Amino acid sequence: MRIVLLGAPGAGKGTVAKLLTEFDGSVQISTGDILRNAVKAGNELGKKAKGYMERGELVPDDLIMDIMEARMKDPDCQKGFLLDGFPRTIPQAEALKKLFEKIGMKLDAAINLDVPTDVILDRLTTRRTCSNSDCQEIYNVKSKPPKADGTCFKCGSPAVQRADETEEAIKQRLTTYNEKTSPLIDFYKKEGLLVIVKSLDSKEIANEIIKAVKK
Ligand code: AMP
Repeated sequence: MRIVLLGAPGAGKGTVAKLLTEFDGSVQISTGDILRNAVKAGNELGKKAKGYMERGELVPDDLIMDIMEARMKDPDCQKGFLLDGFPRTIPQAEALKKLFEKIGMKLDAAINLDVPTDVILDRLTTRRTCSNSDCQEIYNVKSKPPKADGTCFKCGSPAVQRADETEEAIKQRLTTYNEKTSPLIDFYKKEGLLVIVKSLDSKEIANEIIKAVKK
């Protein structure tokens, strides 16, 4: 399947994307993960992105489009992809549309994970992420804690709080979402691709998406 996952930070895009990859082998493409790996590696992209990310602001569109154009040409994307955290602005959505036209691809749907703000805030402050860049399993200290010593069940690396999950950065990320990303809901509605999902249960959400895409 070829879908865009929309929703505020903490809406569950990453968790749902991971469940969907198990369904049909579509690959999860998370611009946030790509950028965090670049910051960790200390490469050119990472150096350019680091400051924006730590402040909870968006990385400039041209940097993101360079990453995505290259990534979508990779052979594993031919099976399908789950875009997690991209597009994040109207110019990114328009550039993606043009890119699809150029390479002769079509989106199946844009899924909006509609989660109340109080749930989002609670999730972001309690979220822990495996620090191993090849794993990045997502935990929650309340509902899905890591091992008692704080390490990941899958790979044993420490599960940590992300640098942009301080209260201040979270507030900024939500403001950025409301200003820059939420207009995409209307954009995809006009494109006839919008599907709204209101469930808070990731397995239920994944099943709803599978049903919507099959239609
Ligand atoms: P995420 O893990 O998707 O919440 O992304 C973490 C951070 O990476 C965001 O707060 C942004 O600074 C940056 N980022 C991720 N995806 C994008 C994007 N599509 N456009 C601009 N910045 C992005």
